[in-house]
Amino acid sequence: MDSYSGYINKLIAELSILPGIGNKSAGRLAYHIINMPKDAVERLANTMVDARENIKYCKQCFTLTDKELCPVCSDTSRNQKVIMVVENTRDMSAYERTHKYQGVYHVLHGAINPSLGIGPSDIRLTELIKRLQSDVDEVIIATNSSIEGETTAMYISKLIKPTGVKVTRIASGVPVGGELEYIDEITLSRALDARVEL
Ligand code: ZN
Repeated sequence: MDSYSGYINKLIAELSILPGIGNKSAGRLAYHIINMPKDAVERLANTMVDARENIKYCKQCFTLTDKELCPVCSDTSRNQKVIMVVENTRDMSAYERTHKYQGVYHVLHGAINPSLGIGPSDIRLTELIKRLQSDVDEVIIATNSSIEGETTAMYISKLIKPTGVKVTRIASGVPVGGELEYIDEITLSRALDARVEL
């Protein structure tokens, strides 16, 4: 073992923990980092620590935010009685870009996927049901139209229906198997307008 390579090996090992980064990419990144100016490396490291320390989940909708409540939840002009359920924060951003939706959100952070061992208790479902104890007019399910998204939508609708709250599903203007975040704003707006009651 080369005693001088301990630090680089450690750096490669840490980098390869990241998703999509194999050992080879981690090696490339590690050599890039050790050749970067020292202040640039410090900035990168500090930015990661700051993000990890300061970003938290909105206590109402569970999107990522710097504050207790995210900008959408704390906006009094938004209709707090309409909740759109999305799989992740990127989907929420996609709907925000349409500038059409005036309600609030609930971010599940995933979808039910039995083959990956992801069950209802692994996503933010209990928190969603808890929110229904306040005055809610409608829950719009905007999970992806993948098998996992549809399974999740069906599960949620079965869970909510007995409470008497109106449950709708965004229309199938969204291509089957399509990832919400890649779909253009017009298609998203149409899918929202043409939502159907479950
Ligand atoms: Zn929020």
